[in-house]
Amino acid sequence: MKYLFITLAFLFALNCKAQYGKISGQIIGIKYSKPFSKVAVLIKKYQRITYADSTGNFTFENLTPSQYLIQVLAKYKPKSELYFDTSFIVNVQKDSTLHLQIKLPDTCQYDKYRKNRRCPICHKKNKVIPIVYGLYIGELDTENYFYAGCTVSYCDPTWYCKTDKYRF
Ligand SMILES: [Zn+2]
Repeated sequence: MKYLFITLAFLFALNCKAQYGKISGQIIGIKYSKPFSKVAVLIKKYQRITYADSTGNFTFENLTPSQYLIQVLAKYKPKSELYFDTSFIVNVQKDSTLHLQIKLPDTCQYDKYRKNRRCPICHKKNKVIPIVYGLYIGELDTENYFYAGCTVSYCDPTWYCKTDKYRF
């Protein structure tokens, strides 16, 4: 009995001395380094979840030195469609902070309209035509297509409402 007590005391002492590590990270866009806020960051094994703040920063403190599977989940809005989900393994060491920079594809305000041609201004579809990018060969069909030229970026509108002269 005495022996058992000593063993337990020893374990307790070890626990008190355990040195914890920390993860500190920032989530930004690949192209413009725009901070992503409200992105969920999870350590699955420990059921821990945190959200990136308005500057894209997040932290996990008091982590036992170990390998952790980190999952990053980004949604356009709470409850709306998930557009990014990635997981990776990190190694947390005692008494140190692991700095992570996580880069996500930039969000685009037009993404939510890609599959929905209803105009956000008049709420109708009948005068909405697809926008075409690039060089055109032959006659232009300006009745059924809106020709937007050759300049494309990572974030371009898909539709043109003829009633409102609005691209979305
Ligand atoms: Zn419209």
